[in-house]
Amino acid sequence: MIQLPPDIHTHDPERHDAVIQLTPGRDMADDGRVYSIGIHPWDTTVTDADWEQLLDEVSRTSSDRRIVMIGETGIDSLRGGSIPLQTMLLRRQAEISEACGKPLLLHVVRAWPRVLALRRRMRPSQPWIAHGFRGKPQLAAELLRSGIDISLGEHFNPETAAMIPAGRLYTETDTSPAGIDEIRQRINAFRSEKKFN
Ligand SMILES: [Zn+2]
Repeated sequence: MIQLPPDIHTHDPERHDAVIQLTPGRDMADDGRVYSIGIHPWDTTVTDADWEQLLDEVSRTSSDRRIVMIGETGIDSLRGGSIPLQTMLLRRQAEISEACGKPLLLHVVRAWPRVLALRRRMRPSQPWIAHGFRGKPQLAAELLRSGIDISLGEHFNPETAAMIPAGRLYTETDTSPAGIDEIRQRINAFRSEKKFN
């Protein structure tokens, strides 16, 4: 199992001790920084994109020691290209995650039934992590039951923060200017409050 830093997802390429989101084709630093590589659901509106070539780039780069996760990928019902296209790219990147033995980082908006159906079909051995999760405890429980781990960022449902088992909870800064310590403190404040337990 790959050891991830406390901040599992940022779009800020200058952060250290964080997993930096990398678009296929971009360069990585060689100073200890680590990355996730993937095709973001929002980038699927590009009409002249060569998806096979981009997937190839993700696949080839996935074995690099600086890559610790595949993604973010997923299905966003409110933004991005067609749902079939987003679903295909999710499935292919999930296959890359399995092939290289690194976790999959998920961006899912109003599309969990599709993602859960894919997961039931694929039975992946790698962790799948729902990033930037803002859902209620009921949805969180459904994801956890199906084997998906959860990552919380700046905005989260406090009751959800209270109910995720420690071993299945990740934290992230994403696009927030806040530091990861600040975000973790806020999450932990809710986890120690008994009223949510
Ligand atoms: Zn992100």
